[in-house]
Amino acid sequence: MIMNGKELSLKIKENLKKEVEKLDPKPSLVVIQVGEDPASSIYVNSKAKLAREIGYEFEHAKFGENVTEEELIKKIEYINASDRINGVIVQLPIPKHLDTNKIINKINPTKDIDGLTELNAGKLLTSKASLVSCTPKGIITLLKEYNVEFTGKHVVIVGRSNLVGKPLIGLCLNENATVTVCHSKTKDLAKVTKKADILIVAIGKAKLITADYVRKGAVVVDVGINRVDGKLYGDVDFDSVSKKARLITPVPGGVGPMTTISLMENVLVSYNEMKKRG
Ligand code: NDP
Repeated sequence: MIMNGKELSLKIKENLKKEVEKLDPKPSLVVIQVGEDPASSIYVNSKAKLAREIGYEFEHAKFGENVTEEELIKKIEYINASDRINGVIVQLPIPKHLDTNKIINKINPTKDIDGLTELNAGKLLTSKASLVSCTPKGIITLLKEYNVEFTGKHVVIVGRSNLVGKPLIGLCLNENATVTVCHSKTKDLAKVTKKADILIVAIGKAKLITADYVRKGAVVVDVGINRVDGKLYGDVDFDSVSKKARLITPVPGGVGPMTTISLMENVLVSYNEMKKRG
């Protein structure tokens, strides 16, 4: 059976819309984009469209390819100090002359709706995070929608990026799963992945995970987005694995829409917390 992220994201969007209708002022977010990377522009435009449909105020802060770190940090500091803006993200990747880690960590953690600052990433491991990294958050929401049980289950995560793999460790531990993490140096990957009750794959290699890597009846989450000859593929070979898995996410239409809608949920989390602080 397919876990339909697109359908669930639309349901969450409608709920957000209803909540935002009642709010005044409206929640507000800024997306900072540097340069003209076509993929980034597509992502930013889809975030802008979704945010506006929900009823948020949206600012697209666009900087040229040669912007300096100082200029970007000045913008972030302005956003940090604003009473009106609830959340900000820096669309990644940014050009090589800019220090991504330094820039991300200039964001006030209470407005870090991507959950990528070191403080929010660390909080995830101490179970206190309110702004959780969007792709991992979306994955947990999707699995819960399909009543996937975590307690005592073995989750195997393939990929250890700061964006996906590492935050998933904290989230799955908080759900009382037993967690194993694999990466490019893992020996005999299939031997490990075959032990998974829940297999989450985020590596960026089209169709690497075939049926030989999956235990019959497992739940499989495919995070990968790989463009091959203009077509999108996940990291999981959907045709063979879907015959073996109990539940599986498609690409596209699985984790992708859950990531974007989780960002929108985080805007409201940040808005409500700002309101509470007064
Ligand atoms: P990274 O490149 O940052 O990390 C990839 C991870 O996969 C690394 O930990 C790497 O190991 C591991 N890896 C690479 N090759 C293998 C292999 N053959 N066997 C085992 N592990 C391997 O990628 P991201 O985490 O940022 O993204 C992963 C994929 O997910 C990409 O396709 C990306 O486009 C997609 N993505 C999708 C999102 C969505 O919304 N659907 C959001 C974010 C990402 P090592 O650490 O040893 O190098």
